[in-house]
Amino acid sequence: MALFSFGFVFLRSIRPDFSKKEVFEMNHKLPEMFGSMVFNEDMMRQRLPKETYKVWKAAMERGKRLDLETANTIANSMKDWAIEKGATHYTHWFQPMTGVTAEKHDSFLSPKDDGGVIMEFRGKELIKGEPDASSFPSGGLRATFEARGYTAWDPTSYAFIKDDTLCIPTAFCSYGGQALDKKTPLLRSMEALNKQALRVLKLFGNEDVERVSTTAGPEQEYFLIDKTLFDKRKDLRFTGRTLFGAPAPKGQEMDDHYYGTIKTRVKAFMKDLDEELWKLGVYAKTEHNEAAPAQQELAPIFTTTNIAADHNQLTMEVMKKVALRHNFVCLLHEKPFAGVNGSGKHNNWSLATDTGINLLEPGETPYENIQFLLFLSAVIRAVDEYQDLLRVSVASAGNDNRLGGDEAPPAIVSMYLGEELTGVLEALCRDLGYTADKTLMKVGVHVLPTFAKDTTDRNRTSPFAFTGNKFEFRMLGSSASISGPNVVLNTIVADVLSDFADVLEKSENDFNSAVHDLICETYLAHKRIIFNGNNYSEEWVKEAEERGLLNLKTTVDALPHYVAEKNVALFARHKVYSEEELTARYEIKIEKYCKVTAIETATMLEMAKKEILPAALSYTNRLAETCRTKLLVDASLPCLAEKKLIGQLSNLCDELYREVELLEKAAADAQKVSDPMDKAISYKDHVLPAMETLRKTADSLETIMADDARPFPGYGDLLFTV
Ligand code: ADP
Ligand code: MG
Repeated sequence: MALFSFGFVFLRSIRPDFSKKEVFEMNHKLPEMFGSMVFNEDMMRQRLPKETYKVWKAAMERGKRLDLETANTIANSMKDWAIEKGATHYTHWFQPMTGVTAEKHDSFLSPKDDGGVIMEFRGKELIKGEPDASSFPSGGLRATFEARGYTAWDPTSYAFIKDDTLCIPTAFCSYGGQALDKKTPLLRSMEALNKQALRVLKLFGNEDVERVSTTAGPEQEYFLIDKTLFDKRKDLRFTGRTLFGAPAPKGQEMDDHYYGTIKTRVKAFMKDLDEELWKLGVYAKTEHNEAAPAQQELAPIFTTTNIAADHNQLTMEVMKKVALRHNFVCLLHEKPFAGVNGSGKHNNWSLATDTGINLLEPGETPYENIQFLLFLSAVIRAVDEYQDLLRVSVASAGNDNRLGGDEAPPAIVSMYLGEELTGVLEALCRDLGYTADKTLMKVGVHVLPTFAKDTTDRNRTSPFAFTGNKFEFRMLGSSASISGPNVVLNTIVADVLSDFADVLEKSENDFNSAVHDLICETYLAHKRIIFNGNNYSEEWVKEAEERGLLNLKTTVDALPHYVAEKNVALFARHKVYSEEELTARYEIKIEKYCKVTAIETATMLEMAKKEILPAALSYTNRLAETCRTKLLVDASLPCLAEKKLIGQLSNLCDELYREVELLEKAAADAQKVSDPMDKAISYKDHVLPAMETLRKTADSLETIMADDARPFPGYGDLLFTV
């Protein structure tokens, strides 16, 4: 019943576009559908012996290991449940450093001595797996002779059924214990943050708090494109974005897509997507048209960061699958279309105690407020000290096409607090230490206003915005896993909290004054990172430079900071990455940048040589034929249009041909460079500009060719036919 009314409110709030009848129908399905494919806590409570359930729960809450006996009991019960739901296989579902998810399916069937078979799934198969994973990137962490890593169940993330397979969310490590995936460091960073936040909370006397978790709610943007059109474009098929394409006569300038009426076909897709996600226990909350034509967004209800990361991976996978059912292709690339907004992922982030307190929520009492301000200043300092790491965490070839455009945050990391909260900090800290009257200062905290979302969320240009009771990190690209950025956020805040705890534990002042001093020292030392103005403006770029903030424009500029001495030390200090693990990740990121650019180059060259140039030459021929026919009829006809067009086409084709040769040369030169970083630099400095030049010429050709002479569908078709 509770779930029923939850469903009612839930649907009414997220689906204003649904008719009453539709809401009614969905509403009936929701309670039994939600989480129906998840072996969640409810299921465990129902199905496991009481003792086993208790052991699992303790393991989950305190990060303890499961003993084999408990694992056996859980595995057996999980298997029975999965078979009832029609599953035949199981897999350890994990997130290697490629950024996508991987699975290796095994059947529940086991041979019996008498030659028959039984359905079996044992505890050791639940808690540990050994995928042959030699082809996953390891950045040199695993020599091929010990190619097998192992996967281990993350009991804080529930098993679920997808495509008749029981999926067990797992971490993936080498036998030496080195992390080979995205989940392991995320869990480690959550642990680091838990440890340091607890130290601080104990000092405030919060004896009842046993655990602090980070929470995330990633809003996911994406494009829906007709599959028939998608199939006709090699660039979309091979790279996920258009490498050519002149602008359509109409773009997003009318702003008529944003929150516009959702088209029937898109609506059918969304309904289907919602149902699939709800079955998997993903609380998909809102889906609406985004600013660009054909662009949409999905926001889940936030949850613990590691589950949010798992759910986001699942969401992306399900989006793509469901899109195909509706003859759409879901594009998750950061910049599928030039001149039209790209897609990002807003990572809403906060800290929550197991007693249900959001530590970034300004409270109602002065005591709660001073605690809030301390956590807030920890984030301020962390973001300022580790701007470089935050920038690195969102760096990719795809995101380079988006960051710094007029639609996405710039590459400069800064923080938005809003005038109100900045005002509070200013008032609180202006006279700190210079007047003895600390009682007066504390008064400021008594009157902390509650920060209404609509006043804090207005600045959409900030890369890192405080939005009332959480931060919204807006630089993430749409296709990437949210793990990396959250690993950084958790670790850098843990580091500052650790420092704060050291200071406060040693302080001889009375606790309140010590906290005040700390808040203000921190704020005054790091307020350069706070910027409440327009991040898209030219002036900001200049001002940021004067403030000494970093402006790491591209992935290649940002990456070296990943392995800077201070960052290696940071990750080692909190046992999130060893130096070896960090270096491996750095190398994988460079390699990926080079590979993506190489594939894009090859695709461009192929399209230019095999499609664009031949099409333009045939079109020229068609014009010449027309001209000849006309002259046969009347030799005095001027054929002005044909001649002009032939002239333009001829020039552009020659230019295109030259530029193809230049791009080929630049690509070959880059390929030859052996040092990975130098290679990336060569791609960035020589290949990317050559790609851009070639594109310009091809797009000019497109604008003078007849629709039926063009080799593949253009922007108008792709963006305005959904
Ligand atoms: P909007 O108006 O943009 O939908 P909301 O505040 O409702 O803004 O939510 C945006 C996203 O932030 C949602 O995915 C939501 O679940 C998430 N979110 C809200 N509170 C938190 C929190 N404390 N921690 C992490 N994410 C959160
Ligand atoms: Mg948002």
